[in-house]
Amino acid sequence: MDMEFDIIALIYSWRIEEAKKKLEEKLENEIYVTDLVYCPLKYYFQKKFREITLAESFNPVTIYGEVVHVGIEEVLKEILGSNNVKTEVEYEKNIEVEGKSYIVKGRVDAIIGDYLIEIKSSRSDANIPHKHHIQQLRLYLWLTGFKKALLLYITPNRISQYFVTEPASDGEVSDLIRSLLAQSPAPRYSWECTYCPFSIVCSNKRVGT
Ligand code: SF4
Repeated sequence: MDMEFDIIALIYSWRIEEAKKKLEEKLENEIYVTDLVYCPLKYYFQKKFREITLAESFNPVTIYGEVVHVGIEEVLKEILGSNNVKTEVEYEKNIEVEGKSYIVKGRVDAIIGDYLIEIKSSRSDANIPHKHHIQQLRLYLWLTGFKKALLLYITPNRISQYFVTEPASDGEVSDLIRSLLAQSPAPRYSWECTYCPFSIVCSNKRVGT
């Protein structure tokens, strides 16, 4: 085998370069929808412990999820025609909280007709749909002005879909931003620390939940 040809190195560069770009491009007053959904400390740790953030982008579970996304998006385009499926569509919206303006940004996996589609690749189908995933879609509905969203799970045990139609309100988004600024509650969910790459440097880490 030609040892010059190294797919692992290619995937590594792809992920690391993308993660670096994302970190560098993020403005000080920019908040991603995902920052509002998960533990607020992660938002600060991402910048502070940059190398941990970059290493996490090469976590095989993350890559697996990424590949499932790309695959499903391509399959949908093939079935419905690429003109009828928009993928990786970025949205942003300004919101003022405590006299300061913030830009909330989100990237929707796919748009088909008047539906937003969010793809999730869980390790298991236990307890789906997850509360934080529904919350993410409610925030996307707020961000985009769409009325309907579909949450699609691809798991080893089950392929399942859930509809979300209730957008988050301005008040809820403001409260989430306040919670992000206050760095509380951290974690937002008791299970988060188990999967958190920053748990190795975090004083708030919850052990044994
Ligand atoms: S270890 Fe837990 S509390 Fe600390 S950043 Fe991660 S999720 Fe948040």
